Amino acid sequence: MEMSVNLSDKTAIITGAAQGIGKSVAKGIVESGARVLAVDIADSIRDVPGKLEGKYEPCQTDVSDPQSVEKMVLKCVELFGAPDLLINIAGITNPCSVQNMSLDTWQQMIDVNLTSVFLTTQYVLPYMIEKQKGSMINFSSIYAETGGVTCAHYSAAKAGIEAFSKALAREVGGSGIRVNVIAPGLIETGMTDLMRPEQKNALIKRTPLQRIGHPDDFIGPVLLLASNAGSYITGQIIRVNGGRTMS
Ligand code: NAD
Repeated sequence: MEMSVNLSDKTAIITGAAQGIGKSVAKGIVESGARVLAVDIADSIRDVPGKLEGKYEPCQTDVSDPQSVEKMVLKCVELFGAPDLLINIAGITNPCSVQNMSLDTWQQMIDVNLTSVFLTTQYVLPYMIEKQKGSMINFSSIYAETGGVTCAHYSAAKAGIEAFSKALAREVGGSGIRVNVIAPGLIETGMTDLMRPEQKNALIKRTPLQRIGHPDDFIGPVLLLASNAGSYITGQIIRVNGGRTMS
């Protein structure tokens, strides 16, 4: 897929970049010219893709841990300068009914999926306010809108990301900072590997575009929100779900 957006004057922090959607988005952003700090808790984040020298730096980080996040943002500033783009993609699922859910399971879901977005935002925000510009893109889920069976904790965290992002867009718009959300539908990644084929097929049947999403389907929407092409878009939830939900 050819995209011609020039981000060569930008520095980006991208979380969840070791695999799936985050890995595709990191590749797309580097190819558009930006410098990327690729953040993930997984060891595999250290495997730097070829030909990216000087523009791509892995940073092993637990995004739910405040000290780890602070160190990560300082590393970005030292290596590449103050971040212009913050793209929060890291996330986990852990299906469980509410009846059987321990407080630890609930808390971990909220910490990794929602508190992480608060933490990265809080450490990055002073740099964007100083520059009077920036773009933040937070990944939620179709489940924020529909709810997901055995995913009450995940759905709540993702709905929290959407409300947080809208409130923040109002708070920081006057500083030239845009905040938007991308809400994926069913996407072929490690996160959906455990779903049964018949479960996936039933969802594909209810999808107007009649296919499962691919991680590369997110490069275009992210480039729009990251670049000047999206300069009048803030506080929006962009659904990238093949049309499965509409409004
Ligand atoms: P994925 O599981 O393939 O990748 C998620 C990445 O986040 C992994 O590399 C993982 O190591 C990282 N991560 C997890 N916990 C972390 C932590 N504490 N600190 C740092 N990194 C951590 O998932 P994906 O399918 O690529 O999903 C990306 C985003 O899109 C997630 O926020 C997910 O909730 C959302 N989403 C995905 C789907 C889907 O169908 N795949 C649907 C809706 C929403």
